[in-house]
Amino acid sequence: MCTPPDNDLGYPYRADFVENTVAEKTYQLFSWAVFKVSCPDPQEYSEWTDRGRTRVSHDEFASYLRWAFERAGNAPKIANVSKLIPQADGWRLEAHTATTSANFGPYDGVVVSGPGGARPNPLTHAEGFYNGVNFWQSTKRIEGTLHRNPTGTIVVYGGGGTAAAILGWFARSGFEGYQIQSLTSQAMLYTRGNNFFERRLFTDADAWNRLSPSSRRAFVNRLNRGVVWDTMADQISRLERLSLAEGRVTRVERQRIGPAGSRERGLEVYFDAEKGPASISANLVIDATGFDEWWFRSLLPDDWRDKLEPTNKVERDRLRDGIQQDLSFGPGWTLPRLHVPMLADLVGPGTTNLLSLGDLADRILASYMLAPGGHA
Ligand SMILES: Cc1cc2nc3c(=O)[nH]c(=O)nc-3n(C[C@H](O)[C@H](O)[C@H](O)COP(=O)(O)OP(=O)(O)OC[C@H]3O[C@@H](n4cnc5c(N)ncnc54)[C@H](O)[C@@H]3O)c2cc1C
Repeated sequence: MCTPPDNDLGYPYRADFVENTVAEKTYQLFSWAVFKVSCPDPQEYSEWTDRGRTRVSHDEFASYLRWAFERAGNAPKIANVSKLIPQADGWRLEAHTATTSANFGPYDGVVVSGPGGARPNPLTHAEGFYNGVNFWQSTKRIEGTLHRNPTGTIVVYGGGGTAAAILGWFARSGFEGYQIQSLTSQAMLYTRGNNFFERRLFTDADAWNRLSPSSRRAFVNRLNRGVVWDTMADQISRLERLSLAEGRVTRVERQRIGPAGSRERGLEVYFDAEKGPASISANLVIDATGFDEWWFRSLLPDDWRDKLEPTNKVERDRLRDGIQQDLSFGPGWTLPRLHVPMLADLVGPGTTNLLSLGDLADRILASYMLAPGGHA
């Protein structure tokens, strides 16, 4: 993981949330340090510290989250929410499992989390074509394909964290000698480091609020979108035959490839480059252009689903610009409270990543915990 694990569930542990004991108790009960100390291996915490408080794998961070959930006695209900139904007393949720369906609620508010699914692409199920979701579910199969065809070309298009994570996987999984073509609209994998000034703005809400809207936009564009962590860039630099090229992919087609008369079938990636349209043949293509952050639209009533069509940019921008400090939609939203952290990076840049999960939780929970004394 690129984020250090000290940026854990309660981070940045602001002492002024509701009661000043909350931060302390959250640290005592649910911090990464306490998780490490309570591991069966007595040296686990000291070893991690002596090694320089290193970054951890996604697996390890997932174990930490599971531990905290269990410790909190907070067993999640596993079900797929198919509808958010607005009613006079709040939201009701329609959800189903493989065998049952049920309604839950009423709830005063709902948080829709997650970056959303991959954007629809007609080739999603074509052999050799993957996206930022099904790539991770298919790594065994991809390994098999690559071992069978070590001379083929891999194309990864997209220039942000999704592309970087995928390129990093190739570097770590024994494919550093493979021919890989990265296509991005900015011709470069821009990196972000880990300096105090950048990190501070993810955790200091007051400093963030003092920035002008245009400075916030510039920060988010520079550090949250289309940018790769330096640790990931180090891994990617081990790819011996990686070429970066500028190109906006326009379509990918499955067709005959190779010299005239060849019966070999593969994928042809068409893109617009500085010098005009071009194409490249590949046997593995990964669309790493990101996710549909408005994915929850499909759960809403028909009228709101229509209003939030991808083509209705004006309505989407208006709602996004009006997102409140509690990360819910503001003026113009006529349904019960819906918190949308993944759209709220101008309210706080840590709402779309794992850098300040405590602040994310505080923002949402404080709005429901107004104490009788009038302070939140
Ligand atoms: C490869 C990769 C590496 C990353 N590395 C980092 C990193 O190092 N640092 C960092 O800060 N961020 C990283 N990120 C981003 C980070 O994973 C996300 O910011 C974070 O997971 C968002 O958490 P979440 O709970 O909002 O969404 P998710 O972790 O995506 O969880 C959303 C959950 O909602 C469930 N869900 C979806 N639809 C429904 C439905 N209709 N009903 C019920 N459940 C549903 C999904 O199954 C999923 O379990 C990485 C992302 C990827 C893909």
